Amino acid sequence: MRTIEQLIEGYRRFRAGVYAEQAALYRDLGEGQSPAIMLIACADSRAEPSDIFAAAPGQLFVVRNVANLVPPYMPDGKLHGVSAALEYAVNVLKVEHIVVMGHGGCGGIQASLAGGDNPDIGEFVTPWVSLLDEARQRVLESDPINPQYALELEGIESSLANLMSFPFVRRSVEAGTLTLHGAWFAIKHGELHWRNGKTGRFEIVAP
Ligand SMILES: [Zn+2]
Repeated sequence: MRTIEQLIEGYRRFRAGVYAEQAALYRDLGEGQSPAIMLIACADSRAEPSDIFAAAPGQLFVVRNVANLVPPYMPDGKLHGVSAALEYAVNVLKVEHIVVMGHGGCGGIQASLAGGDNPDIGEFVTPWVSLLDEARQRVLESDPINPQYALELEGIESSLANLMSFPFVRRSVEAGTLTLHGAWFAIKHGELHWRNGKTGRFEIVAP
């Protein structure tokens, strides 16, 4: 799919296929949504949450951004897209789970490791991925074989920690009505690694 004609053609296939098969579901969803799971994923075109989890419309409340990052709680009156989605998901939709999903070969992680020396992305991406500075420091100090992979996982830890800095997230987690999870998707092998909440280790999910 490279042209707008192909994009529109894709819509026509959707209308004739997926939509036609699920017209009743879409009619119900037109009245409102009540997803139980929020997913925070990368904007990367290769790690599509609804595909990976075979989710139907209405099932996942998804936020995607460069490197699947959650900023810390900063009620400073500035514009916070992730925080707004989070507030809506937790306080209004009352989602029961939040999954932060990273992926292999992440360009945002690459940008963080490159340390801001690319002027093409200096205005927005570099400051955005500075959210990873502490995680990058921890990773580089541990001198891993694969810093890219190590930071992809450490970035998820950092986002999970930042999620807990939101008072409404912390309250729901402590009340037992919300659980936080980490996941990482290996694009090449279509393999999902799920973070074990007790050990913090990422384990391959049996396909
Ligand atoms: Zn990415």
